[in-house]
Amino acid sequence: MSKNPIIAACPYCGQISVETEEKAFKNQKEADNWAVTNCKCYEATKIVNKNKTLGRAREEIDKMFGGSDGTDRRPARDLLMLAATLIVDGEIETVNVSLSNGTKAKVATGTKNALSITRTDTQATKQEV
Ligand SMILES: [Zn+2]
Repeated sequence: MSKNPIIAACPYCGQISVETEEKAFKNQKEADNWAVTNCKCYEATKIVNKNKTLGRAREEIDKMFGGSDGTDRRPARDLLMLAATLIVDGEIETVNVSLSNGTKAKVATGTKNALSITRTDTQATKQEV
């Protein structure tokens, strides 16, 4: 290895790891991400778990509100993902959204630090005669 090795440091506890031939980093950003993902300190573990939860939330929100009716629901999905992020950050507890097609979405704090995502399709029939 001719260049200076990149040093990966956990920003929470300061534990450092130097790249090796087997563990080569493309750049400092990749090294820093590696440090957080592989550090076992409390803060790094919390961040890793939070990112895992948000990854699962994104998948579920895409599945549940993916616009299977042919409409573009991306803005609504982005709003629900923002809600999920704020809930995981502890900023808010619950967000209820009514979509324009009558579907209701709820993102809330679940059990054991999980997220709860609910989709409710209302099929009310009303006649005025
Ligand atoms: Zn750490």
